[in-house]
Amino acid sequence: MTTPTTATEIRLASRPHGMPTMDNFSVVETPIPEPGDGEILVRNLLMSVDPYMRGRMNAGKSYVEPFAVGAAMEGGAIGEVVSSRSDALKPGDVVLHQLGWRSHAVLPARYAVKVDPEVAPLSAYLGVLGMTGLTAYAGLLHIAEFREGDTVFVSGAAGAVGSIVGQLAKLKGAKRVIGSAGSADKVRHLIDDLGFDAAFNYKDGPVAEQLAAAAPDGIDVYFDNVGGEHLEAAIGAANLNGRFALCGMISQYNATEAPTGPSNIVRVLQQRLTLRGFIVSDHFGLKNEFLAEVAPLVAAGQLRYQETLAEGLANAPRAFLDMLAGANTGKMIVRL
Ligand code: NAP
Repeated sequence: MTTPTTATEIRLASRPHGMPTMDNFSVVETPIPEPGDGEILVRNLLMSVDPYMRGRMNAGKSYVEPFAVGAAMEGGAIGEVVSSRSDALKPGDVVLHQLGWRSHAVLPARYAVKVDPEVAPLSAYLGVLGMTGLTAYAGLLHIAEFREGDTVFVSGAAGAVGSIVGQLAKLKGAKRVIGSAGSADKVRHLIDDLGFDAAFNYKDGPVAEQLAAAAPDGIDVYFDNVGGEHLEAAIGAANLNGRFALCGMISQYNATEAPTGPSNIVRVLQQRLTLRGFIVSDHFGLKNEFLAEVAPLVAAGQLRYQETLAEGLANAPRAFLDMLAGANTGKMIVRL
């Protein structure tokens, strides 16, 4: 077998206006980079496509730097070390790092975390045992301060984060867990496979009406992945002292005009609600606690996770667009 000399990377070709299209990406061949002192060369095996990457396609900093036009995009990836100029890692080691969207990456060894393929399938480190799982864990338990007996509503419930939030709440003694998602199949999956007490398709009618029917006694916790109409409906359904973890607002990521705020915001004070936004990177300190609790649940099959797999680096832009449009159930992953 000849050793490849060419790498492939996906670059941001232009900034999107509204929903991104394939024209916003380019697939470019480059020479395989050489590692310098303290660096490793990694051949990527899997990469993650995530909603936050949509924000990085825009100009202007939010909580992460924007991608540069003409440069390779970045994101979570799992790869095998091909060559190493660091004592910390050796060829054959499998690592988690942040230079996805390319076939080969050179990075300082200290930016790579070794993962054990014997402990869990590699893709799990990008999903349920990775950033996604930690987001669900931190948001539900530390931001919304979930308590046994709570009624919990989670939007984006059949997605990577939402599906873990709902199951964790059930496992920890929620009175009732309600999910919303964008298709009848996803609604069935939430109830039949993941043990949600109720679920609805937000495309079937007003969210407020569907939520009121699913939560006749109101909700104590809302885990928001969607924003907009969902957030307004959750404020409308919230019980006294309700707690909201504001995790994401994907309904607004492609908006071309400023969205209007919840029209019922006065209920936040009337009901003494707590609405708290969070970014998972501020909670990396919870990683050991999270893994100690969640990894055994996953290993025992008590916490289930689904993945939607796309094949090939060149299909990563399509997988990303499909994920934004709801084609995924569970975590969207690209296998290179
Ligand atoms: P995901 O839920 O696996 O995938 C995105 C899903 O969003 C799609 O499958 C689609 O499902 C749904 N969606 C798209 N447009 C929508 C709309 N207009 N209204 C309602 N739902 C819509 O993605 P994820 O990685 O788990 O992320 C979920 C949310 O968490 C995102 O908002 C993301 O930005 C946020 N997040 C935040 C942090 C943090 O640190 N705060 C970390 C990770 C993720 P349907 O078929 O149901 O429409």
